[in-house]
Amino acid sequence: MKLTIMQIHLTAFAKNFPFLSASLSLRQLKLFLCLIVIGAGFCWPLFSAQANGLSGLEPAVTRSQQIPVATNPAEVIPGLNKSPFTLAQQIGLSGSQFAEFLTALDSAKPLTAKRGESLSDMLQRVGVDRSTSRELVSSISKSYNVKNLRAGQQVHLLMTPSAGPNKGNFMGLLIPASLERNVMVVRQPDEQFQVLDLKRPVSRNLRLATITINDSLYEDGAEAKVPANILNELVKTLSYDIDFQRDIHEGDRFDLLYEEQVNDEGRLVRNGGLQYVSYTIDGETKRVYRFNDGDRAEFYLENGEALRRSLMRTPIDGARLSSGYGMRFHPVLGYSRMHRGVDFAAPVGTPIYAAGDGTVAYAGRFSGYGNYVKIKHDNNYQTAYGHMKGFANNIRVGAKVRQGQVIGYVGRTGIATGPHLHYEIYVKNEQVNPLSVKAVGNAKLSGNKLTLFRGQQKDLTRTLAELKKLPGQRLALAK
Ligand SMILES: [Zn+2]
Repeated sequence: MKLTIMQIHLTAFAKNFPFLSASLSLRQLKLFLCLIVIGAGFCWPLFSAQANGLSGLEPAVTRSQQIPVATNPAEVIPGLNKSPFTLAQQIGLSGSQFAEFLTALDSAKPLTAKRGESLSDMLQRVGVDRSTSRELVSSISKSYNVKNLRAGQQVHLLMTPSAGPNKGNFMGLLIPASLERNVMVVRQPDEQFQVLDLKRPVSRNLRLATITINDSLYEDGAEAKVPANILNELVKTLSYDIDFQRDIHEGDRFDLLYEEQVNDEGRLVRNGGLQYVSYTIDGETKRVYRFNDGDRAEFYLENGEALRRSLMRTPIDGARLSSGYGMRFHPVLGYSRMHRGVDFAAPVGTPIYAAGDGTVAYAGRFSGYGNYVKIKHDNNYQTAYGHMKGFANNIRVGAKVRQGQVIGYVGRTGIATGPHLHYEIYVKNEQVNPLSVKAVGNAKLSGNKLTLFRGQQKDLTRTLAELKKLPGQRLALAK
């Protein structure tokens, strides 16, 4: 008899729960339910003990099927990867109630929220009594804010085919709570509601999108259905190379590859980062690839040159250049002398960034420079920062810093007429003009890293060729 109960019609279940099953094959669902049923079968003595004294309802078994057996439930439904034993125990259903539960799933009915209707109102509309509906709402509130339920949203009712007169045949419901999770509420044998948080499977795709400029990058990007955060990343990435305000014209083109994560209904859950961009500006095409050199991920041109400059010319935000490089009359000292750096006027406390990756070579008072930091970079470059109010945490000799990391704050220590950053760049210990340093080029990959980059570039080129043939230019990634 137990085996017969297990063979409950599953096909209708899949039809009734497209949100659970859209991206899963019917076969996978069967496998999953089969596992639950088998799990319940193993736990039968446990359930039977629990079921003593409860109404022994016989489920309506309408059809039996051959059910295949899966070995690993995690492979069947990613979001429901608990063992069937655990799931069955969590729901707290004993043998016959468990079978009823499966039947209820099988015949679940969608119920649509009307304008101004609460979840409790909805349940009462379909005949669930007031106290039961209130009880359900109160038990669900820890997992789901029922106020988030909007007009037009659907919940799925679980009704048992038969039940005692006082219980009604309401067993629970399932709410698609978000793109990534469902909340299921099931009435246990003791009449209490059990709330289960069920993650929905999310899969990853690569998408190749093309933006051709007609109006502006943002308008044309939106038309190409490229999400705003990807557009922002695109602008941030390419602004080392192009000026988006001046260089972009009608007919320019961007092909961008990025990851998107979609749920079982194919709805976008979130975007992964940008992977690759091919851009054609005024007839000239460049390609950039995201590559992690083991230290950080950034974009490189085909030849292995980084888009990012290895040193920033202005290691501070929103500052005004107040004094350039060269001879000048020093307002405090009262005579002319060479100014071997540039000054950026900014309010006291404005963060100062490390201009490039490197190691702190000096951090402390340094005569007229006041609080002063010097950083040693690759290729015989050094940068120095003067008149700081103070240093950021952990900025001391020997500390490793990253480009853009805050190293200190604008002040007016040492000989200074007002708060500003005095910034210097040294090449082989010689001071140079930071604003005209052509030598401060971009980082380049070499050796093993370059070999690795070339390999990834080759793989990506293959992927792109494959993608271009696919509908919607989308490629599913392995889990
Ligand atoms: Zn200065």
